[in-house]
Amino acid sequence: MVSPTLHVIGAGLAGLSAAVAAARDGWRVALHEAAPMAGGRCRSFRCHLLDRALDNGSHLLLGANRNALAFAAAVGGGETLAVLPPRFPFLDVKTHRLWEVRPGRLPAGVWQTIRALGLTGIPHGQSVANRLGKTSAFAHLWKPLCEAILNTPPEQASAQLLARVLRTVFLGGHAAARPHVAAAGLSALFSAPAEATLAAHGASLRYGRRLTAIGPHVLEFDNGPVPIRDGDRAVLAVPPWVASQLLPALPPLATSSIVNLHFRLDHTAILPGGMPFLALVESLAQWLFVREDVVSVTISAAGSLVDRPAAAIAQQVWQEIAPLLQGAPQHLPPFRVIKERRATLAHTPAILRRRPGPATHLEWLFLAGDWLSAPWPCTMEAAVASGLSAARLALGRDDMSFA
Ligand SMILES: Cc1cc2nc3c(=O)[nH]c(=O)nc-3n(C[C@H](O)[C@H](O)[C@H](O)COP(=O)(O)OP(=O)(O)OC[C@H]3O[C@@H](n4cnc5c(N)ncnc54)[C@H](O)[C@@H]3O)c2cc1C
Repeated sequence: MVSPTLHVIGAGLAGLSAAVAAARDGWRVALHEAAPMAGGRCRSFRCHLLDRALDNGSHLLLGANRNALAFAAAVGGGETLAVLPPRFPFLDVKTHRLWEVRPGRLPAGVWQTIRALGLTGIPHGQSVANRLGKTSAFAHLWKPLCEAILNTPPEQASAQLLARVLRTVFLGGHAAARPHVAAAGLSALFSAPAEATLAAHGASLRYGRRLTAIGPHVLEFDNGPVPIRDGDRAVLAVPPWVASQLLPALPPLATSSIVNLHFRLDHTAILPGGMPFLALVESLAQWLFVREDVVSVTISAAGSLVDRPAAAIAQQVWQEIAPLLQGAPQHLPPFRVIKERRATLAHTPAILRRRPGPATHLEWLFLAGDWLSAPWPCTMEAAVASGLSAARLALGRDDMSFA
């Protein structure tokens, strides 16, 4: 008799973590992914324009991201992480004033910090701008933190969710706030070692295979059906806009975009502030990241910017950042622009309330993904934690973990 199979649909971080947890527990696992490669919204690729390996967008992990870090360690990717001191330099592009955010030392008055962290409670439905918009540190601290953490403009973003993340990171001690950077790229950190782990456990990995419909006892893929037999389970780890097409009972959830730019210099780049990343204020560019001779720029909550031509965005951003980079040319160097139109959920109070949990109307089918109900916004941590929870529920094993 064939032993039951856990089918995982989607090889982003949520699907990979569900698949690895089950395979390590001795389950037969089949992973089905529509794209030709794993990683989803957290992946590396070879950019021929710059002749470099790039990440789709710069990703920052923090010490508080326990599930994501444990997953990286469990599959063997954790060794590629650079663990940095807990400090976040900020620079005002207009005045060139440089300052730092550190755990327990947010550069804002006590009262507004208490408000931002929600230590006196936050009314349901309150936006970040409504809560903090009139404070002196709004433009230089709360707004950039809101856009970076929630990828949502402060006028719409949930003050409760921002406060929860700020408390976890900045009141959790130095370890919780330590930035962890994927020094060898996102795929080397997560998807490549996860695929190797799955292969070592005999899991089958099937790429270029798109799920098109879900029946009472069948998964319909574009290249044929897969029957769900007695004892089989499935984890649907696709983004929200795909999940709600496959399971119409799920609510449609609005998303928010991120624009990333990568510039190649002819020398190793060094940023003011002495870290491999730097937050910028008073500019279109919001965060700079450097990896050797590549400078990457993140613009979160990008809105209609995604409709502007890539070259025009690159030109404007380069004019802002070139004066900050020692030895950088004035003319535009080789660049690549990546527009992730649906990077994360829009983290508004109304959308957060509508996030579903992992169960579905089918007793063999469970949901995973960064967009499910969780204490975190859409992040690597939320994705990995949701994959682990879905595997636990599907297999009835509360004790599975990556520790
Ligand atoms: C530019 C950018 C920057 C970010 N920065 C950070 C950061 O700094 N820190 C942080 O923690 N998080 C960050 N994130 C968020 C993080 O990348 C995501 O939360 C996480 O990768 C989501 O993983 P997931 O598995 O839930 O979804 P996905 O990665 O979207 O995976 C879903 C998978 O399902 C596949 N799929 C879709 N439809 C089908 C189908 N019908 N059949 C089969 N397969 C299908 C997709 O191809 C994909 O591989 C960032 C995201 C972006 C885009």
